[in-house]
Amino acid sequence: MTNIDLKKLPLVSRTDPEGNPRPTTTFRVGGVDVGKDFLMIAGPCSVESREQITEIAFFLKEAGADMLRGGAYKPRTSPYSFQGLGRVGLEYLREAGDAAGLPIITEVIDTRDVYLVCEYADVLQIGARNMQNFSLLQEVGKARKPVLLKRGMNATIEEWLNCAEYILSGGNDRVMLCERGIRTHETYTRNTLDLSAVAALKGLTHLPVIVDPSHATGRRELIAPMSLAAVVAGCDGLEIEVHNCPEKALSDAGQQLHFGEFEQLAKKVKKIHESAL
Ligand code: PEP
Ligand code: MN
Repeated sequence: MTNIDLKKLPLVSRTDPEGNPRPTTTFRVGGVDVGKDFLMIAGPCSVESREQITEIAFFLKEAGADMLRGGAYKPRTSPYSFQGLGRVGLEYLREAGDAAGLPIITEVIDTRDVYLVCEYADVLQIGARNMQNFSLLQEVGKARKPVLLKRGMNATIEEWLNCAEYILSGGNDRVMLCERGIRTHETYTRNTLDLSAVAALKGLTHLPVIVDPSHATGRRELIAPMSLAAVVAGCDGLEIEVHNCPEKALSDAGQQLHFGEFEQLAKKVKKIHESAL
């Protein structure tokens, strides 16, 4: 066990230089005050076609999601796996979000694409594999868009907070952290969801904390229980993968929820959040 020296993290620290606690950061995205209202981000792992993302967007709006996710640039383990539709994917995602009335979040994996992705997205996502890509962090630090910074799969909380400090020190203070599971000796689940990090972060930093149970578990049947547990642990929102036909998904087929599963889960999350307040 080590302690984290928050004096070395002056911008993300929960306490200000005088030692007083800072309130949780809030910023507006679409109809939601992130950090104050509970944020439900949902959508497919990848944008696959105009029809797919549009159908999902309309369903999610109806089911109560606040933000539409979908990868256009996919960081894949294998070079032979689907890499995303790129710019066309951004266009489809934007169109679908606008048509359904949802703001959009999508991952940027390359410093050269930050400007382009900013033209389409409401929120930029930095994925687990890029958490410590310091040039990318500096680039999104200059961007005028909020950032969701995922935890690297091998990162400590301190390393993760330092990455957020990079973005804030670059001039962008609209940052949220996303716990998406870390690598442990366990292989039954894709990663191990570190809920203690969620509770710990609420004391260490004023940045909103989001939980992604989809990449954390990799197993559809575990998404609902882990989502509810995350709400009780104090997270400010969830990011959940949902697909119109998960079995045929071009990426992460085993962890994307069917529409009906998401609908039920969203209702439960709302109830638990209200009673946990
Ligand atoms: C994703 O959210 O699309 C993703 C690739 O997740 P992670 O970076 O957490 O693996
Ligand atoms: Mn995915």
